[in-house]
Amino acid sequence: MTHACDIAIIGAGAAGIGAARRLAGRGLSVVVLEALPRLGGRASTVLMSGLPLDLGCGWLHSADRNPWTRIAEAAGFVVDRRRSAWDQQFGDLGAPPAEWEAAGAAFDAWSQRLLEYPPASDRAIDAVAPGERWLAYLQALSGYISGDELERISAADYAAYDSASTALNWRLPAGYGTLIASRFPADVALHLATPLERLDINGPAVELVTPRGTLRCRAAILTVSTHMLAGDAIRWPAALDPWRAAAAHLPLGCNEKLFLEIIGPSPFEAETHVQGDLHDPASGTYYIRPFGFPVIECFLGGAGARRVRDEGTPVAFAHAIDQLAALFGGEVRRALRPALASSWGATPSIGGGYSHALPGHRSARARLASPYEDRLFFAGEATHPTDFSTAHGALLSGIRAADEVAEAFSRER
Ligand SMILES: Cc1cc2nc3c(=O)[nH]c(=O)nc-3n(C[C@H](O)[C@H](O)[C@H](O)COP(=O)(O)OP(=O)(O)OC[C@H]3O[C@@H](n4cnc5c(N)ncnc54)[C@H](O)[C@@H]3O)c2cc1C
Repeated sequence: MTHACDIAIIGAGAAGIGAARRLAGRGLSVVVLEALPRLGGRASTVLMSGLPLDLGCGWLHSADRNPWTRIAEAAGFVVDRRRSAWDQQFGDLGAPPAEWEAAGAAFDAWSQRLLEYPPASDRAIDAVAPGERWLAYLQALSGYISGDELERISAADYAAYDSASTALNWRLPAGYGTLIASRFPADVALHLATPLERLDINGPAVELVTPRGTLRCRAAILTVSTHMLAGDAIRWPAALDPWRAAAAHLPLGCNEKLFLEIIGPSPFEAETHVQGDLHDPASGTYYIRPFGFPVIECFLGGAGARRVRDEGTPVAFAHAIDQLAALFGGEVRRALRPALASSWGATPSIGGGYSHALPGHRSARARLASPYEDRLFFAGEATHPTDFSTAHGALLSGIRAADEVAEAFSRER
């Protein structure tokens, strides 16, 4: 490994790649250290029989203002602008249309109360109407959106995301992970499978200790997840404990995906969607034959994703097939084969889905994003004030941190 550089970037996910792209070509030596043996972090497209499937981010949220949309098109990637089928229940399976409408209306009413009458407790659950009949459905949606139950979600934080979102969601047939990994700049040094174990500040230098040697740099940008920052996998000086505390107030929720392969004839129509069970807070939500691929993507959040972690993927797949059989009929069991599953919660250098602020702790995002002594800079999805939990929020945070370093260097000069 090179033993000295101007700037080290820890983590090669969307934030680290964003920072590296911003710093490339500025005459500074930049080195990226990544714990995993691949680029992308929570952006990961895996080929299944030649089909690109996204185990992590898949949707270009706020797509009309999402910088990845522009980057994708400039690089020749196809952007699929079709409307998402999330808000449709194929064939009104599972419940009469009036029930689907009532559940949807309960979610809309909850969102509106949250924005217009934010609860004094800052607990998202306290914007739920007393005795709400559709609480299980609201908890399932909270799991997909925030990775955790409404009791643990800051209402102000949720509202900040919601107000900033343009609610346009587009996709990349080649995979969001493929795009992000392919945008790593060629002229920046990259060390994969090189986890940072200890960080010291020594006079004007930041020292980064890895199993492959020690790197000395003038400044470092940390883009690792809040799970990593709050835990003890990276040892660092006590002066950085306030950043650890901020990260602990922005935990990663649980989010996982399961892909079922469709074999032979089946009733599954391309680009359709079903919610598994209106009354189950751990229910999966199923995107059927995305792009016409012979797969069903099951998305799990909160209680449903914790089942993958706690009971294992075979149990989670069996549960998903049971839900689909209950909706489409028992004969679909023959057409469904467990194919691919994510394990974000069990990946040591990630540790979960995406960040949410705990009630009363929305301000932790700004605290986590603030630099330490013009030496350490913080990026990653959790540091974006409104676009947290997304790949474009991560990219923008990397760009912001890169600009902060460049400004600090010009002040030094
Ligand atoms: C199931 C799922 C679905 C999602 N869907 C969407 C979606 O549709 N749209 C969307 O916009 N977003 C989505 N997201 C969220 C999005 O993927 C993330 O917000 C984004 O990719 C985070 O990027 P990041 O760079 O902040 O963090 P990461 O991608 O976590 O990158 C940090 C990197 O740091 C590395 N690292 C950790 N510790 C060390 C260490 N000690 N030394 C060196 N390297 C280290 C990690 O291995 C990782 O590669 C989804 C996430 C999940 C899990």
